Amino acid sequence: MEPIRIAFFDAKEYDKASFDAANRGGCDIRYFDTKLNEATVRLAEGCGAVCAFVNDEINSAVIDALAASGVRLIALRCAGYNNVDIAHAYGRIHVVRVPAYSPYAVAEHAMALLLTSVRRIHKAYIRTKDFNFSLNGLTGFDLYGKTVGIIGTGRIGRVFAEIGKGFGMKVIAYDKYPAPGSGIDYVTLDELWARSDVISFHCPLTEENRHMVNRDSIAKMKKGVMLINTSRGGLIDSEALLGGIKERRIGGACLDVYEEESDVFFHDFSGHIVDDDTLSRLISMPNVIVTSHQAFLTVEALQNIAETTLANVEQFFENGTSENEICYKCAQITACKQDHTGKCF
Ligand code: NAD
Repeated sequence: MEPIRIAFFDAKEYDKASFDAANRGGCDIRYFDTKLNEATVRLAEGCGAVCAFVNDEINSAVIDALAASGVRLIALRCAGYNNVDIAHAYGRIHVVRVPAYSPYAVAEHAMALLLTSVRRIHKAYIRTKDFNFSLNGLTGFDLYGKTVGIIGTGRIGRVFAEIGKGFGMKVIAYDKYPAPGSGIDYVTLDELWARSDVISFHCPLTEENRHMVNRDSIAKMKKGVMLINTSRGGLIDSEALLGGIKERRIGGACLDVYEEESDVFFHDFSGHIVDDDTLSRLISMPNVIVTSHQAFLTVEALQNIAETTLANVEQFFENGTSENEICYKCAQITACKQDHTGKCF
């Protein structure tokens, strides 16, 4: 069989290394640095599949252009698919994803951000590099005994819950689809806002929960609450977050994602002027830590992402479907795998 030609968008050096290592010759991968969007979609001409990531813009126009040029498959090398118009894709082009590659990578990064922020490690690191051994302003607080509220108790949220318990934290959670018999202490969203010292987001971004952190919900939170977002930037209204920080209601924000990240994250802007005033203001705050969508970035996760993505592509071109296919009809994100028996279309 001819190798399957894949147009691989938004390719970084670490992607090339992991995909080249995982490719056993079944795929002919064309790497492009650029993101997939309406302006770049023609690069996929002549390919059977495109491989895309979190900030590629796969709207209806891109889907139509891909389908018209003969592309049959969008292979997402990530779990979330809020950047794909899957309703429009139905009947036109198939979509597969990597539902899980390392929940540990993301959950551990969330805890790394929390510990860094709470114990002021980011400040101490810079001070001692400059032989400044003063401790003034570095007072933190114990996580032991504090309440962590987890929003989304799927793969990553559950690992984070276990990590929190390991630190002696009390874990409460909110999930739109609570898992019966899981032993998780589910509470309402309002209760979670009111009781949590730390809130960590591990749910997908949907139209319904966009800006779930807003002026109203911030007003319900405990004074000094720490927010950790390793999920999707759109869950937080960044202006409202800034307001909450300035009012001293929010004690700290650990952000691996940002709602307007797509033009900024993954690029080197040092020496340049960043136009996004909200991001600049957030980064200037002493109690905000930003990493640029880095939580997934471990050796283990990259290897799993590459292997699963290529297996998805090969399975699709062999069988016309893949166990990791998503479509808006069968893919209620958590139920897809069990319900998914035949082809989506
Ligand atoms: P998952 O599907 O295993 O779990 C998601 C959970 O969220 C499920 O329990 C689901 O019932 C729940 N949920 C769905 N809608 C909800 C809502 N409106 N409110 C509350 N809960 C809701 O997903 P996962 O593998 O744990 O990943 C969680 C999220 O993490 C992904 O959607 C993705 O956005 C993000 N993510 C980020 C990175 C990163 O590098 N920063 C990497 C991987 C995943």
